[in-house]
Amino acid sequence: MSPIKILVVEDEVIVAADIAGRLKKLGYAVIATVVSGEEAIKKVTEERPDLVLMDIVLKGEMDGVTAAEKIRAKVDVPTIFLTAYADDKTLQRAKITDPFGYIIKPFQQNDLRVAIEIALHRHSIEAKMRESLKVSEATRESLAEKSHRQNQYISMAAHELRNPLNAILISAELLKIDRTRSSDESQVKTLRLVHSATQKMNQLIDDMLFVGRAESGKLKCNPFPINLVEFCQELLAQLQLGNEAHKLTLIPSDVTSAILDQQLLYCIISNLIVNAIKYSPNGGEVSLELEYLQAGGGDKEAIFCLSPECLIPNSNFTKINSPSLIIRIRDEGIGIPETEVGKIFEMFYRCKNTERIKGNGLGLTIVKKAVDLQGGAIGCESKIGIGTTFTVALPYIALSSKSHR
Ligand code: ATP
Ligand code: MG
Repeated sequence: MSPIKILVVEDEVIVAADIAGRLKKLGYAVIATVVSGEEAIKKVTEERPDLVLMDIVLKGEMDGVTAAEKIRAKVDVPTIFLTAYADDKTLQRAKITDPFGYIIKPFQQNDLRVAIEIALHRHSIEAKMRESLKVSEATRESLAEKSHRQNQYISMAAHELRNPLNAILISAELLKIDRTRSSDESQVKTLRLVHSATQKMNQLIDDMLFVGRAESGKLKCNPFPINLVEFCQELLAQLQLGNEAHKLTLIPSDVTSAILDQQLLYCIISNLIVNAIKYSPNGGEVSLELEYLQAGGGDKEAIFCLSPECLIPNSNFTKINSPSLIIRIRDEGIGIPETEVGKIFEMFYRCKNTERIKGNGLGLTIVKKAVDLQGGAIGCESKIGIGTTFTVALPYIALSSKSHR
């Protein structure tokens, strides 16, 4: 074990040499003996001793009490005051600096050892207490934040469920009242309303369950070989049904297959494409592009085509450091306001410019969770009135060394 390092601050050179000698005999390392408060502050900052032995009465502008105060404000090093004589006022000031001990001059070698060991022990206990206080404070804060977030989710979910539930209730009332009077056609219309409201509730509950499972760590990534081209073509064909006013295209690329979690990949691409359709005018083109990137194949600006105002929510993602599959979904839609782009992955967040378009604000939360679960990253570049591009980078495991081609 390396010896404890002590700085001696004493303006009487002979006394300083005597103290240093005694300390060395006791097995301590004296890093320096200095004669003024200013020098003491400089030495402590440079050399970080384990303890300072400080004479209270020092010649010069700064006495030991002021020097100890300044040291305490800069670094966490315990100070023991040495004093032969000090007036009451000075002693009161010394007390306020909360020193770790006093030694009255003249003193015995043993007094010195006892004062130093007590000071070091007290200092280490205080440091541990501070550390555990910090940990418990952080735990308390994170629990409070978690419970606040859960309450928020519950009230938001309840709010979102109320609309379709009301639609069902009103439809049921209509069916009851008009059972005899209304035509078959009007009853079918009402039943359709019930069906659509039920579907909406179902989707919301499914989405919330997905987020809940992801947050509690119950959702796992199960990678299997996927034929990416077939997978994307089928997904686009499915989404094209009912969205004939938009043109969905898969941009040809040399990526063919990979080992990925199919369910998570579906969540990512389908939610991003549904958004691209939903937030672009009829006639707009939505494209899906796959690209293979080698390790070190580009930094984040290059991969995510980011201009400075765009975001990477996964800010620790700076470089592609392993082979990656890049998925790009581009639309010619209304765009995302610059001031809101940092919030779109938050649960239930919806941008001001899309308030009139229906949605729960869960799709991108799901996408982000699915990307995180696979150790990937997501970025978004958008311009109001021009369009939006979401770029996802997922760790790429090829079926064989050439299988992406
Ligand atoms: P849902 O839960 O049904 O997906 P949503 O689409 O409103 O509802 P998210 O998919 O999480 O929710 O998207 C959050 C918000 O981000 C949207 O409400 C919209 O304001 C904005 N947004 C997402 N994608 C686009 C896009 N391609 N173009 C413009 N705005 C978008
Ligand atoms: Mg959505």
